[in-house]
Amino acid sequence: MVVKWCKWLWVPLLLLVLFLPLPAQAAGMVEVTGDVVNLRAGPGTDYPVLGQVEQGTQLAVIGEARGWYNVLLADGRRAFIAGWLVRLLEPAALAAPSRGIQAQQERPSTASAAGPSTVEVTGDVVNLRAGPGTDYPVLGQVEQGAQLAVIGEARGWYNVLLADGRRAFIAGWLVSGGGAAYANVPLVSRGGENRPLPSVLAGKKIVIDPGHGGSDPGAIGPTGYQEKAFTLAVARLLATKLRERGAQVLLTRDSDVTLDLAPRVEKANCWEADAFLSIHANASTDSSVAGLSTWYCPSGFCPKGSSYLARCVQEAMVQELQLPDLGVRTANFYVVRYTQMPAVLAEVGFISNPGEESLLRTPEFQERVAQALVSGLERFFAP
Ligand SMILES: [Zn+2]
Repeated sequence: MVVKWCKWLWVPLLLLVLFLPLPAQAAGMVEVTGDVVNLRAGPGTDYPVLGQVEQGTQLAVIGEARGWYNVLLADGRRAFIAGWLVRLLEPAALAAPSRGIQAQQERPSTASAAGPSTVEVTGDVVNLRAGPGTDYPVLGQVEQGAQLAVIGEARGWYNVLLADGRRAFIAGWLVSGGGAAYANVPLVSRGGENRPLPSVLAGKKIVIDPGHGGSDPGAIGPTGYQEKAFTLAVARLLATKLRERGAQVLLTRDSDVTLDLAPRVEKANCWEADAFLSIHANASTDSSVAGLSTWYCPSGFCPKGSSYLARCVQEAMVQELQLPDLGVRTANFYVVRYTQMPAVLAEVGFISNPGEESLLRTPEFQERVAQALVSGLERFFAP
Protein backbone atom coordinates (compact mmCIF):
# COMPACT_ATOMS: atom_id res chain seq x y z
CA MET A 1 0.00 0.00 0.00
CA VAL A 2 1.93 2.93 -1.32
CA VAL A 3 -0.30 5.53 0.28
CA LYS A 4 0.11 4.15 3.77
CA TRP A 5 3.85 3.80 3.38
CA CYS A 6 4.17 7.43 2.26
CA LYS A 7 2.17 8.68 5.20
CA TRP A 8 4.49 7.02 7.67
CA LEU A 9 7.58 8.12 5.83
CA TRP A 10 6.57 11.77 6.11
CA VAL A 11 6.67 11.95 9.89
CA PRO A 12 10.39 11.19 10.38
CA LEU A 13 11.21 13.17 7.25
CA LEU A 14 9.39 16.20 8.58
CA LEU A 15 11.09 15.92 11.95
CA LEU A 16 14.42 15.66 10.19
CA VAL A 17 13.75 18.84 8.21
CA LEU A 18 12.53 20.73 11.27
CA PHE A 19 15.57 19.90 13.33
CA LEU A 20 18.19 19.89 10.62
CA PRO A 21 20.67 22.43 11.89
CA LEU A 22 21.92 25.08 9.54
CA PRO A 23 25.64 25.15 8.90
CA ALA A 24 27.42 25.93 12.14
CA GLN A 25 29.02 29.08 10.79
CA ALA A 26 26.95 31.74 12.58
CA ALA A 27 28.39 34.81 10.96
CA GLY A 28 29.14 35.11 7.28
CA MET A 29 27.42 36.07 4.11
CA VAL A 30 24.61 34.55 2.14
CA GLU A 31 23.64 35.16 -1.46
CA VAL A 32 19.99 35.17 -2.51
CA THR A 33 19.26 32.28 -4.90
CA GLY A 34 15.47 32.74 -5.23
CA ASP A 35 14.14 35.11 -7.88
CA VAL A 36 12.63 37.69 -5.55
CA VAL A 37 12.69 36.75 -1.89
CA ASN A 38 10.75 38.23 1.02
CA LEU A 39 12.50 39.67 4.05
CA ARG A 40 10.41 39.04 7.13
CA ALA A 41 10.15 40.32 10.67
CA GLY A 42 10.65 36.83 12.11
CA PRO A 43 11.75 33.30 11.20
CA GLY A 44 8.62 32.04 9.45
CA THR A 45 6.17 32.87 6.68
CA ASP A 46 3.64 34.02 9.29
CA TYR A 47 5.71 37.10 10.03
CA PRO A 48 5.09 40.38 8.18
CA VAL A 49 7.07 41.06 5.03
CA LEU A 50 9.50 43.92 5.55
CA GLY A 51 10.73 44.09 2.00
CA GLN A 52 12.20 42.02 -0.78
CA VAL A 53 15.58 41.24 -2.23
CA GLU A 54 16.47 39.97 -5.65
CA GLN A 55 18.61 37.09 -6.81
CA GLY A 56 22.30 37.75 -6.34
CA THR A 57 21.90 40.13 -3.41
CA GLN A 58 24.45 39.41 -0.67
CA LEU A 59 23.48 39.77 2.96
CA ALA A 60 25.47 39.64 6.19
CA VAL A 61 24.29 36.92 8.57
CA ILE A 62 24.01 37.69 12.27
CA GLY A 63 22.09 34.66 13.44
CA GLU A 64 19.81 31.74 12.61
CA ALA A 65 16.52 30.39 13.84
CA ARG A 66 14.34 27.55 12.65
CA GLY A 67 15.95 27.31 9.23
CA TRP A 68 15.91 31.08 8.66
CA TYR A 69 18.84 33.47 8.63
CA ASN A 70 18.74 36.70 10.58
CA VAL A 71 20.44 39.18 8.28
CA LEU A 72 21.67 42.74 8.51
CA LEU A 73 20.46 45.11 5.82
CA ALA A 74 22.48 47.92 4.30
CA ASP A 75 20.55 50.53 6.31
CA GLY A 76 21.28 48.79 9.62
CA ARG A 77 17.88 47.16 10.00
CA ARG A 78 17.58 43.42 10.60
CA ALA A 79 15.32 40.91 8.93
CA PHE A 80 14.86 37.17 8.43
CA ILE A 81 15.25 35.31 5.16
CA ALA A 82 14.39 31.66 4.41
CA GLY A 83 17.49 29.45 4.58
CA TRP A 84 16.39 27.49 1.50
CA LEU A 85 16.30 30.55 -0.72
CA VAL A 86 19.90 31.60 -0.13
CA ARG A 87 23.33 29.96 -0.26
CA LEU A 88 26.15 30.46 2.19
CA LEU A 89 29.14 32.07 0.54
CA GLU A 90 32.53 30.41 0.87
CA PRO A 91 35.08 32.48 2.75
CA ALA A 92 37.08 32.67 -0.52
CA ALA A 93 34.23 34.47 -2.23
CA LEU A 94 34.09 36.97 0.61
CA ALA A 95 37.74 37.85 0.19
CA ALA A 96 37.05 39.61 -3.10
CA PRO A 97 36.76 43.30 -2.18
CA SER A 98 33.82 43.90 -4.48
CA ARG A 99 31.64 41.33 -2.75
CA GLY A 100 31.46 42.09 0.94
CA ILE A 101 28.96 44.13 2.85
CA GLN A 102 30.98 47.23 2.03
CA ALA A 103 29.99 46.81 -1.60
CA GLN A 104 26.37 46.65 -0.54
CA GLN A 105 26.58 49.85 1.36
CA GLU A 106 27.73 51.86 -1.62
CA ARG A 107 25.28 54.51 -2.65
CA PRO A 108 22.83 53.31 -5.26
CA SER A 109 23.99 56.02 -7.64
CA THR A 110 27.29 54.18 -8.00
CA ALA A 111 25.55 51.00 -8.98
CA SER A 112 23.41 52.67 -11.60
CA ALA A 113 25.84 55.24 -12.95
CA ALA A 114 24.63 54.51 -16.48
CA GLY A 115 21.04 55.49 -15.69
CA PRO A 116 19.48 58.95 -15.63
CA SER A 117 19.59 61.06 -12.49
CA THR A 118 16.14 62.53 -13.03
CA VAL A 119 13.12 61.50 -15.03
CA GLU A 120 10.06 63.41 -16.19
CA VAL A 121 6.59 61.90 -16.00
CA THR A 122 5.08 61.45 -19.48
CA GLY A 123 1.90 59.59 -18.53
CA ASP A 124 -1.19 61.61 -17.64
CA VAL A 125 -1.44 60.58 -13.99
CA VAL A 126 1.02 57.90 -12.95
CA ASN A 127 0.99 55.69 -9.85
CA LEU A 128 3.91 55.63 -7.46
CA ARG A 129 4.28 52.15 -6.00
CA ALA A 130 6.00 50.49 -3.07
CA GLY A 131 7.95 48.13 -5.31
CA PRO A 132 8.95 47.52 -8.93
CA GLY A 133 5.72 46.07 -10.33
CA THR A 134 1.99 46.67 -10.59
CA ASP A 135 1.41 44.12 -7.80
CA TYR A 136 2.84 46.53 -5.26
CA PRO A 137 0.61 48.97 -3.36
CA VAL A 138 0.03 52.43 -4.75
CA LEU A 139 1.61 55.04 -2.50
CA GLY A 140 0.45 58.06 -4.42
CA GLN A 141 0.28 59.59 -7.86
CA VAL A 142 2.20 62.14 -9.91
CA GLU A 143 1.06 64.15 -12.86
CA GLN A 144 2.54 64.67 -16.30
CA GLY A 145 5.59 66.94 -16.23
CA ALA A 146 6.61 66.12 -12.65
CA GLN A 147 10.38 65.70 -12.24
CA LEU A 148 11.69 62.96 -9.99
CA ALA A 149 15.18 62.15 -8.71
CA VAL A 150 16.25 58.60 -9.56
CA ILE A 151 18.12 56.61 -6.92
CA GLY A 152 17.95 53.16 -8.44
CA GLU A 153 16.31 50.82 -10.89
CA ALA A 154 14.81 47.36 -10.91
CA ARG A 155 12.98 45.34 -13.52
CA GLY A 156 12.17 48.30 -15.77
CA TRP A 157 11.03 50.51 -12.90
CA TYR A 158 12.79 53.51 -11.41
CA ASN A 159 13.25 53.90 -7.69
CA VAL A 160 12.67 57.60 -7.13
CA LEU A 161 13.06 59.99 -4.25
CA LEU A 162 10.01 62.09 -3.41
CA ALA A 163 10.04 65.67 -2.19
CA ASP A 164 9.22 64.54 1.36
CA GLY A 165 12.17 62.15 1.47
CA ARG A 166 10.14 58.99 0.92
CA ARG A 167 11.05 56.54 -1.83
CA ALA A 168 8.78 54.96 -4.39
CA PHE A 169 8.86 53.12 -7.71
CA ILE A 170 7.56 54.40 -11.04
CA ALA A 171 7.15 52.47 -14.30
CA GLY A 172 10.05 53.14 -16.67
CA TRP A 173 7.71 53.34 -19.69
CA LEU A 174 5.69 56.21 -18.22
CA VAL A 175 8.62 58.59 -17.79
CA SER A 176 11.23 60.12 -20.07
CA GLY A 177 14.81 61.03 -19.41
CA GLY A 178 16.06 57.48 -19.44
CA GLY A 179 16.71 57.51 -23.18
CA ALA A 180 19.52 55.29 -24.36
CA ALA A 181 20.84 54.99 -20.86
CA TYR A 182 17.61 53.37 -19.81
CA ALA A 183 18.21 50.49 -22.18
CA ASN A 184 21.50 49.82 -20.41
CA VAL A 185 19.98 49.70 -16.97
CA PRO A 186 21.01 46.47 -15.30
CA LEU A 187 18.09 44.18 -14.66
CA VAL A 188 19.04 43.68 -11.07
CA SER A 189 20.29 46.53 -9.00
CA ARG A 190 22.07 44.98 -6.06
CA GLY A 191 21.96 45.98 -2.46
CA GLY A 192 19.15 47.20 -0.30
CA GLU A 193 18.09 50.23 -2.29
CA ASN A 194 15.23 48.47 -4.02
CA ARG A 195 13.62 47.36 -0.84
CA PRO A 196 10.00 48.45 -1.14
CA LEU A 197 8.45 50.79 1.36
CA PRO A 198 6.05 49.14 3.79
CA SER A 199 2.54 48.63 2.44
CA VAL A 200 -0.23 50.97 3.61
CA LEU A 201 -1.90 47.79 4.86
CA ALA A 202 0.92 46.91 7.26
CA GLY A 203 -0.45 46.55 10.79
CA LYS A 204 -4.08 47.08 9.75
CA LYS A 205 -6.64 44.71 11.26
CA ILE A 206 -8.93 43.49 8.53
CA VAL A 207 -11.85 41.09 8.90
CA ILE A 208 -12.81 39.10 5.82
CA ASP A 209 -16.25 37.56 5.90
CA PRO A 210 -16.88 34.81 3.31
CA GLY A 211 -20.66 34.87 2.89
CA HIS A 212 -22.82 31.84 3.75
CA GLY A 213 -21.27 28.39 4.45
CA GLY A 214 -22.19 24.94 5.74
CA SER A 215 -25.92 24.26 5.47
CA ASP A 216 -26.41 27.65 3.78
CA PRO A 217 -24.99 27.44 0.25
CA GLY A 218 -26.03 30.98 -0.67
CA ALA A 219 -27.15 31.42 -4.26
CA ILE A 220 -26.62 28.54 -6.68
CA GLY A 221 -25.67 29.02 -10.32
CA PRO A 222 -27.32 27.40 -13.36
CA THR A 223 -24.69 24.64 -13.42
CA GLY A 224 -24.74 24.17 -9.64
CA TYR A 225 -21.81 26.28 -8.47
CA GLN A 226 -22.50 27.49 -4.93
CA GLU A 227 -21.94 30.99 -3.65
CA LYS A 228 -20.43 29.68 -0.37
CA ALA A 229 -17.60 27.97 -2.29
CA PHE A 230 -16.76 31.11 -4.25
CA THR A 231 -16.76 33.39 -1.21
CA LEU A 232 -14.46 31.09 0.78
CA ALA A 233 -12.01 30.63 -2.11
CA VAL A 234 -11.69 34.39 -2.60
CA ALA A 235 -11.47 35.06 1.14
CA ARG A 236 -8.53 32.68 1.53
CA LEU A 237 -6.66 34.18 -1.43
CA LEU A 238 -7.35 37.66 -0.11
CA ALA A 239 -6.16 36.75 3.39
CA THR A 240 -2.83 35.51 2.02
CA LYS A 241 -2.31 38.66 -0.03
CA LEU A 242 -3.15 40.94 2.89
CA ARG A 243 -0.84 39.05 5.26
CA GLU A 244 1.97 39.31 2.72
CA ARG A 245 1.53 43.06 2.98
CA GLY A 246 1.80 42.98 6.74
CA ALA A 247 -1.90 43.23 7.58
CA GLN A 248 -3.49 41.26 10.41
CA VAL A 249 -6.37 39.23 9.03
CA LEU A 250 -9.29 37.51 10.69
CA LEU A 251 -11.56 35.26 8.64
CA THR A 252 -15.05 34.89 10.11
CA ARG A 253 -14.95 31.33 8.75
CA ASP A 254 -12.08 29.42 7.16
CA SER A 255 -13.93 26.24 6.25
CA ASP A 256 -17.33 25.13 5.01
CA VAL A 257 -19.20 25.67 8.26
CA THR A 258 -22.58 27.16 9.05
CA LEU A 259 -22.21 30.55 10.69
CA ASP A 260 -24.93 33.00 11.72
CA LEU A 261 -24.64 36.68 10.99
CA ALA A 262 -24.34 37.80 14.64
CA PRO A 263 -21.07 35.95 15.44
CA ARG A 264 -19.53 37.34 12.26
CA VAL A 265 -20.17 40.86 13.46
CA GLU A 266 -19.24 40.03 17.04
CA LYS A 267 -15.83 38.70 15.99
CA ALA A 268 -15.06 41.93 14.14
CA ASN A 269 -16.28 44.17 16.98
CA CYS A 270 -14.44 42.27 19.73
CA TRP A 271 -11.23 42.28 17.72
CA GLU A 272 -11.64 46.03 17.06
CA ALA A 273 -10.93 45.61 13.37
CA ASP A 274 -10.03 48.58 11.17
CA ALA A 275 -12.17 47.34 8.29
CA PHE A 276 -14.75 44.66 7.57
CA LEU A 277 -15.26 43.17 4.14
CA SER A 278 -18.01 40.66 3.43
CA ILE A 279 -17.73 38.73 0.17
CA HIS A 280 -20.78 37.54 -1.74
CA ALA A 281 -22.00 36.83 -5.26
CA ASN A 282 -25.32 38.26 -6.34
CA ALA A 283 -28.29 36.43 -7.85
CA SER A 284 -31.37 37.40 -9.83
CA THR A 285 -34.38 35.63 -11.34
CA ASP A 286 -33.37 37.35 -14.58
CA SER A 287 -30.34 35.38 -15.76
CA SER A 288 -29.20 38.24 -17.98
CA VAL A 289 -28.47 40.55 -15.01
CA ALA A 290 -24.73 40.92 -14.47
CA GLY A 291 -22.18 43.11 -12.77
CA LEU A 292 -20.49 44.34 -9.62
CA SER A 293 -21.86 46.26 -6.67
CA THR A 294 -20.63 47.23 -3.21
CA TRP A 295 -23.01 47.83 -0.33
CA TYR A 296 -22.83 49.74 2.91
CA CYS A 297 -25.28 50.76 5.59
CA PRO A 298 -27.12 54.04 4.92
CA SER A 299 -26.01 57.06 6.91
CA GLY A 300 -27.36 57.51 10.39
CA PHE A 301 -26.53 53.95 11.42
CA CYS A 302 -23.35 52.98 9.72
CA PRO A 303 -19.83 53.42 11.02
CA LYS A 304 -17.91 56.38 9.64
CA GLY A 305 -15.86 55.57 6.57
CA SER A 306 -18.11 52.82 5.24
CA SER A 307 -19.28 54.79 2.21
CA TYR A 308 -15.69 55.68 1.36
CA LEU A 309 -14.59 52.07 1.79
CA ALA A 310 -17.45 51.02 -0.50
CA ARG A 311 -16.34 53.52 -3.14
CA CYS A 312 -12.72 52.34 -2.94
CA VAL A 313 -13.68 48.67 -3.24
CA GLN A 314 -16.20 49.24 -6.03
CA GLU A 315 -13.79 51.37 -8.10
CA ALA A 316 -10.99 48.82 -7.75
CA MET A 317 -13.28 45.92 -8.72
CA VAL A 318 -14.69 47.71 -11.75
CA GLN A 319 -11.23 48.72 -12.90
CA GLU A 320 -9.61 45.32 -12.42
CA LEU A 321 -12.43 42.87 -13.19
CA GLN A 322 -14.00 44.64 -16.17
CA LEU A 323 -17.58 43.62 -15.35
CA PRO A 324 -20.60 45.99 -15.49
CA ASP A 325 -20.57 48.68 -12.80
CA LEU A 326 -23.81 48.56 -10.81
CA GLY A 327 -22.39 51.10 -8.39
CA VAL A 328 -22.16 51.68 -4.67
CA ARG A 329 -25.48 50.91 -2.95
CA THR A 330 -26.95 51.07 0.51
CA ALA A 331 -28.91 48.49 2.50
CA ASN A 332 -29.40 47.49 6.13
CA PHE A 333 -27.61 44.17 5.72
CA TYR A 334 -26.87 42.82 9.19
CA VAL A 335 -23.11 42.51 8.72
CA VAL A 336 -22.68 46.13 7.62
CA ARG A 337 -25.34 47.48 9.99
CA TYR A 338 -24.00 46.25 13.35
CA THR A 339 -20.26 46.35 12.72
CA GLN A 340 -18.50 49.18 14.56
CA MET A 341 -15.84 49.85 11.91
CA PRO A 342 -15.98 50.78 8.22
CA ALA A 343 -17.84 47.81 6.76
CA VAL A 344 -18.94 46.85 3.28
CA LEU A 345 -20.41 43.91 1.43
CA ALA A 346 -19.12 43.23 -2.07
CA GLU A 347 -21.40 41.44 -4.54
CA VAL A 348 -18.89 40.07 -7.01
CA GLY A 349 -20.92 39.33 -10.13
CA PHE A 350 -24.14 37.34 -10.53
CA ILE A 351 -23.87 33.61 -9.99
CA SER A 352 -27.30 33.36 -11.65
CA ASN A 353 -25.81 34.67 -14.89
CA PRO A 354 -24.32 31.72 -16.86
CA GLY A 355 -21.38 33.80 -18.12
CA GLU A 356 -20.52 35.17 -14.71
CA GLU A 357 -21.04 31.82 -12.99
CA SER A 358 -18.42 30.23 -15.24
CA LEU A 359 -16.06 33.12 -14.44
CA LEU A 360 -16.65 32.91 -10.69
CA ARG A 361 -15.64 29.27 -10.49
CA THR A 362 -12.23 29.69 -12.16
CA PRO A 363 -9.18 30.04 -9.88
CA GLU A 364 -7.78 32.70 -12.24
CA PHE A 365 -10.80 34.94 -11.77
CA GLN A 366 -10.87 34.30 -8.01
CA GLU A 367 -7.24 35.41 -7.91
CA ARG A 368 -8.13 38.61 -9.79
CA VAL A 369 -11.01 39.29 -7.41
CA ALA A 370 -8.67 38.93 -4.43
CA GLN A 371 -6.17 41.28 -6.07
CA ALA A 372 -8.92 43.82 -6.80
CA LEU A 373 -10.07 43.72 -3.18
CA VAL A 374 -6.47 44.28 -2.03
CA SER A 375 -6.34 47.34 -4.31
CA GLY A 376 -9.62 48.60 -2.88
CA LEU A 377 -8.36 48.28 0.69
CA GLU A 378 -5.08 49.96 -0.27
CA ARG A 379 -7.02 52.89 -1.70
CA PHE A 380 -9.02 53.11 1.49
CA PHE A 381 -5.99 53.07 3.79
CA ALA A 382 -3.76 55.21 1.53
CA PRO A 383 -2.66 58.35 3.43
ZN1 LIG B 1 -24.75 36.10 -0.51
